[in-house]
Order: sequence, then C-alpha cells, then structure tokens
Amino acid sequence: MIPVAEALDRLFSLVSPLGTERVDLADAAGRVLAEPVKAPRDEPPTARSAMDGYAVRAGDVRPGAVLQVVGEAPAGAVCDRAVGPGEAVRIFTGGVVPEGADRVVIQEDVTARDDRITIGQDPDPGPYVRPAGGDFRAGMAINGPRRLGPADLALLGAMNAGTVCVTRRPEVAVLSTGNELVLPGQTPRPDQIVSSNAFGLSALIEMAGGRARRLPIAADRPEALDAAFDLARGADLIVTIGGASVGAHDLVAGRVAARGGALNFHKVAMRPGKPLMAGRVDNTPMVGVPGNPVSALVCGQVFVAPMVRAMLGFAPAPATRRRAPLAADVKANGPREHYMRAQLTPTGLMPAERQDSSLLSVLADANALLIRPPADPAQPLGTVVDYLPTPGVD
Ligand code: AMP
Ligand code: MG
Repeated sequence: MIPVAEALDRLFSLVSPLGTERVDLADAAGRVLAEPVKAPRDEPPTARSAMDGYAVRAGDVRPGAVLQVVGEAPAGAVCDRAVGPGEAVRIFTGGVVPEGADRVVIQEDVTARDDRITIGQDPDPGPYVRPAGGDFRAGMAINGPRRLGPADLALLGAMNAGTVCVTRRPEVAVLSTGNELVLPGQTPRPDQIVSSNAFGLSALIEMAGGRARRLPIAADRPEALDAAFDLARGADLIVTIGGASVGAHDLVAGRVAARGGALNFHKVAMRPGKPLMAGRVDNTPMVGVPGNPVSALVCGQVFVAPMVRAMLGFAPAPATRRRAPLAADVKANGPREHYMRAQLTPTGLMPAERQDSSLLSVLADANALLIRPPADPAQPLGTVVDYLPTPGVD
C-alpha cells in the first residue's frame, strides 16, 4: 500500500499534456486555452460615453449654463465636429466622445429646448467618459493554461479572437466489469445489479474537461476483458471499474499483465478505494478503480479528475482541499486516509452516520468529503479539518 500523495504522483507520471486544436470561440466554453491570445488594439479604442447625455467641456458645466448642441454621437458613428467652448454634442452610451469634450452631462441633468441645453442646478459630477484603453491595452495577453469561462469568452471576443487554440480534450475509455451488471433501463435478474459507477465517473471526467467513452460492460472472463481493452484503443486514458481486488473474479490486473502491460502500483492507503491500481496497457495509461460505487467515485475525484487536468496542460496538482471545522466529534482514524461522506453545514462538517462504500444514496446527499489523515487521533467538534467539496451542479 502506498500513500495517496505517492499514488497521485505515480499517476501523474503516466500522463502528459495533450496536443492542441483550434476551435471557434463559440465552441470554446470550458475548454483550456493553450496558446496566448493578444489584444490587437486598445479597448475601448477611443474614449467612449458611459451614459446617454451631452458631451461637453468640463469647464462649461455650471448650474444654469446654456450650451449650443452642434452634433450627435450615437454608438457606431463618429461626430467629426469638435466640441468648442459653450458647445455640446448629443451623445449616447458607447458613443465616441468628440474632440474637445472631456465630460458627459447625463440627460437627466439638462433641459433641452430646440438645439440648446440648460444645465440643471446640481449636475452629477460624472465625468462618464471611458478613456481609451481603460479596459485593456493593445498587446495585453491572456495566457494558458486557463479554463475558459463565460467572462473569458466575452473578453476574448472583445479581443477579436474568432478562434482560440485549446488543448485537445482527453478521451477517457470507461470500462465496467462484472458478471452481475446490466445497463440502466434493462431488467435485472434478482442476482444482478444496475451498473451505476460508469455514469458517475463519466460525469466527473466530463466536468474535469475530458470526454468519456463508455465501453460495453465486460463480463468477468479473460476474453470479455480482452475484447473491451481492444475497444479502448485510441483512448488517452483507460479507467476500469471493478475486478480490482484479489478475488477469484478480479481479473483486471491479470489481463493487464497478459497483454504485456505493467502495473505501476496496486493498493493505496485510502478508504474507500484501497484496491486502486494503475499502469499501462496497450501503451495507454490505465487506472483501475474498485467497483464499490462510492470507492469508484471518490477515486474518480481524487485521482482521475486530476489526471484529466494534467492532460489538459495544468500543472499536476491534487484536487483542491478546503478547510472547515468539525460539527461533531470524530473517532480515531485507522491506518488509511479516510474520505468520509459529510455535509458542510453553517456550523461545520457533519459526517454521515453510515460510511459503507456501497451507499450511493449517502454520497449523493453529501456535499463534502471530510479527509482524515492516516492514524489521526480522535478529534473534538470544532477542530478545523480538510475536505473536498463533492462535484455537483449548483
Ligand atoms: P469488484 O470491485 O468488482 O469486486 O466490485 C465491488 C462491488 O462493486 C460489487 O458489489 C460489485 O457488484 C459492485 N460494482 C462493480 N462494478 C459496478 C458498477 N459499474 N456499478 C455499480 N456497482 C458495481
Ligand atoms: Mg467485480
């Protein structure tokens, strides 16, 4: 058994950043920027009005002053008439501030009559002029690796990037093994169960930025596993589910060896997830997670998702931990790092009563994995501990 941190290091050694591809900005949400994008010009390129009103010379703004309106500057057009002393140009939000003007008086602060305006008694000081380059300057760069969120896409659009260079999405083959498994929607016999993990793991992989390719369920027979490994060819990573322990029907490690592959490790000092294995098969990195649903998903969060992020070009790093106080006393931990299903409440982390690694209902209700270090002594309520927020949809 190796510690979790060492297992993760060894997993990172199996993968490297993938190549890149160019995609339309419209298809870039959630992708990881691989090459810098540089702004070709200032934004805004010239001073713009922040309000609807009148572009004037600041010195002309006095309560009761009367100014001559000499032109109009709507967004998308230029008023080529400069604003002289005693003059104003009708302007709208986004309009180019004309030569000579350095302030916009909002329309609520003037009375307009024919082509004259009278400034009100207490005009808003403004100046409501957005200077050239106020948002960003020509040459400003957005660098990768960076996962592109809504604001990034808008910024890249403002930088006139029609396409962006992103890291290819890692394709992860997900292989469920077990004689007892049927797919959701089928009719299981009393001795069968519905395969669940593959769907949870696929979601985790996709949320991390990968593409999950679920393979047909493989029965616990060498030929069935071989056929499944054949189908996994071309993937960047293979994740097998189940068959990872040492029972008579746990064939994954044996098949990896039989195909000329090699395991880097088998067994990690964690709970749940002890039978985790990893290595290479058919020249492809593989991770074998245990079949118990909670084990599979915890291993997915702790190991598979960070591998996907490393393949996307991020510096290899464990899932980001947070800290919160315990909302209840916890007993001494055993020799393995324990990821306890818990609820993060306003008063702190409350571990679930039942921690069996088959209980998906408990995992689905949890919003945190409370992390107990190996051999951690009993801890009282209020102790600040590490946890991982469980991936979820807000
Ligand atoms: P194994 O690791 O194959 O010994 O499986 C451990 C437990 O997890 C057994 O109770 C299996 O029935 C269950 N299991 C294995 N694979 C899956 C799966 N894809 N979905 C749900 N349960 C599974
Ligand atoms: Mg099995």
